[in-house]
Amino acid sequence: MPAPPVFPGEKADSIGQLATQLGLDPQALAHSIAAFNAACQPGSFNHPVLDDCHTTGLAPAKTHWARPLDTAPYYGYALKPGITFTYLGMKVNAQCAVHFKGQASPNLFAAGEIMAGNVLGKGYSAGVGITRGTAFGRIAGTEAARAARYYSAQKSEIRAQAAIKTAATGATA
Ligand SMILES: Cc1cc2nc3c(=O)[nH]c(=O)nc-3n(C[C@H](O)[C@H](O)[C@H](O)COP(=O)(O)OP(=O)(O)OC[C@H]3O[C@@H](n4cnc5c(N)ncnc54)[C@H](O)[C@@H]3O)c2cc1C
Repeated sequence: MPAPPVFPGEKADSIGQLATQLGLDPQALAHSIAAFNAACQPGSFNHPVLDDCHTTGLAPAKTHWARPLDTAPYYGYALKPGITFTYLGMKVNAQCAVHFKGQASPNLFAAGEIMAGNVLGKGYSAGVGITRGTAFGRIAGTEAARAARYYSAQKSEIRAQAAIKTAATGATA
């Protein structure tokens, strides 16, 4: 019995029917399954260990747990490629300000995947993607708000100065 899948797959009483349900060419799937079944060598199936059930003549070989697919019901699951992490990204400093030609931008901040697709030199640490997005997202958000406040205050100051200048010009005229 297969482990419970995350996404529902297809179940059928024949390989041809399964192919149709999966949108595959029934003849091509039947051919692939027949070739796989013919390559399976007799052995003692033992799932918890690296057993001696293997294929011959297939590339790549299935080196363990190879058993002919000859008993209904048949199950099929559509596989789709996905990108878990990108690799490299925009350079940022400790405030998450994006660097351009070695200079920290005063008003562009980055966090998460765009900032450091793969911070791990090797291997995989569970939760690193979400942790990175959450921790640096908080910093980037705080700094972006600080920059917005700063530029907003500067704009108000410029407007105030312009108004004073206009008023002074009017008084002189
Ligand atoms: C299949 C899979 C499994 C994963 N499993 C794990 C795991 O178990 N643990 C873990 O830590 N990490 C995991 N990751 C990685 C993790 O999901 C990512 O590192 C993380 O979600 C990145 O967060 P982010 O906020 O940087 O980017 P995203 O989550 O990609 O957020 C970017 C957002 O920007 C939006 N957006 C894009 N363009 C625009 C635009 N022009 N205007 C407005 N919005 C826009 C997008 O719609 C999206 O909502 C997995 C990733 C995948 C794909």
